[in-house]
Amino acid sequence: MSAAVSPVLPVYIARGEGSVLTDVDGNEFIDFGCGIGVTSLGHGNPAAIEAAIAQTGRFTHTLFGVTPYESYVEVARLLGEITPGEFAKKTVLSSTGAEAIENAIKLARAHTRRNGIAVVDHGYHGRTNLTLGLNYKAVPYSSGVGPRPGEIYRIANSYPYRDGLDGAEVARRGIAHLAKISGAENLACLVVEPIQGEGGVVVPAPGFLETLQEWCRSNGIVVIADEIQTGLGRTGKLYASEHFGFVPDLVVSAKAIAAGFPVSAVTGRSDIMDSIPAGGLSGTFSGNPVGCAAAVEVIRQLREPGFLARTQAIGERLRAGLASLQARHGVIGDARGLGALQGVELVDRDGDPNPEAFRRVSKSAADRGLLVMPGGSDGHVLRLLPALNISDALIDEALSILDASFAAL
Ligand code: PLP
Repeated sequence: MSAAVSPVLPVYIARGEGSVLTDVDGNEFIDFGCGIGVTSLGHGNPAAIEAAIAQTGRFTHTLFGVTPYESYVEVARLLGEITPGEFAKKTVLSSTGAEAIENAIKLARAHTRRNGIAVVDHGYHGRTNLTLGLNYKAVPYSSGVGPRPGEIYRIANSYPYRDGLDGAEVARRGIAHLAKISGAENLACLVVEPIQGEGGVVVPAPGFLETLQEWCRSNGIVVIADEIQTGLGRTGKLYASEHFGFVPDLVVSAKAIAAGFPVSAVTGRSDIMDSIPAGGLSGTFSGNPVGCAAAVEVIRQLREPGFLARTQAIGERLRAGLASLQARHGVIGDARGLGALQGVELVDRDGDPNPEAFRRVSKSAADRGLLVMPGGSDGHVLRLLPALNISDALIDEALSILDASFAAL
C-alpha cells in the first residue's frame, strides 16, 4: 500500500449496519464519519441496496454516452427538482466529487470565455490536479507534486469564531481583493462550499454568501456551490445553500447521493450546462447504472415527509449536547454546525488551534467505541457526520463517550 493512503482509524471493517461499524475483531464503533458523509442513510440501507442489486441483475454498465438508460435521466430530473433555484436546469453525471468540480469549472469557463477561478480560504475541493490548486492547504495535497494550476484567486472566508466580522463585510473585502488581484472581467466562476467541511465545519456569518452572489451576478461570474459534503440532506435541508438564501448557478453533488456507490453530478442553469459540445464531458464510469439506481432511491427517501425534520432534530440534540460539553471542557473553543454536520473546535490556553487535543480525544473516543472525523486547516476540529437518521440513543451514547474522552484529556 502506498504511503499516500492513511486511515483515520486503522481498524479493518467487517460489517456496517445503520450507524454501527463492526471490525474484524468484533469491536463496534458508532459511526460519526459515514465515510466522510457518504452513507447518510446508514450502512446497508435496505431499499437503496435492493435497488442496486436489482440493477446489478439487469446490467452493470453500458456508458450513457454509448447506449443510454433511464435511471441516469431520472437522477438528472430529480436533481433538477431538488437543487436550489427556480429556473430551467440540466445535469451531467460523473463518478467523484473532484471530477464534478472540474466539470463545473469547465462549463463556467466555456460559458463565460474567461479563465479565472475565485475560491475562499480553508476550502477543500478534491485531489485532482485542478482541484488541489483550489484547496487552501498545500500539505498534503499540492506540495511537491509539480506546478499548481494557475488563474486561481483566493479570498478570506467568513469564519465567525475567528474573525468576529459581519458576513457581508468579509465578502466586501474579498470582492475588493478580487477586483485588485484578478479583475471581475477575468473571472469565470466562484467555487465555494456553503458550509466548509474539511475546513472545520465553518458556517459563514449571514450576508457572506449572499453578497458574493450579488457581485458575481452583476459581473457575469458563474457561482458554483460545492455541496459535495453539505448536500443531500446533511445539514437538515436538501442543500445547505437553502439556509442562506444562496442560489448558485451550478450545484455540485456527490458523496451521499448513492448510498456508497460513486456518483457525482453538476446541476444548474441550462444555458451554462449546454456550453460544452457533445462528448466534452463524461468518462467511462460516469453515471454508472448501479449507482443511479441507488441514487433514485436515496433521493426518494430524503424527500419523504418528516425525513429532514428528523435530521434537524438530530442537529438540535447534538447542539444541545455539544454546548453542555463546551461548558464543562475548556479545550472546546467553539461548537457549531447545522443538522447532522457539526464541528467542535479545540483550542489551547491562548485560543490557538490545538491539534494535539484532537489526536488524543479522537483516539480516546475510538477506544470507547466512537469514530469521529478530523477537520480544520490545523487538524484541530472534531467533525461529526452521523447518519441523517441515527437514533437518539446512539447520539446520547456518542455524547457521553465524548464527555469521557474530554474528561480523560
Ligand atoms: N468538495 C468537498 C466539499 C468535499 O468534502 C470533497 C471530499 O471530501 C470533495 C470536494 C472531493 O470529492 P471526492 O473525494 O469524491 O473527489
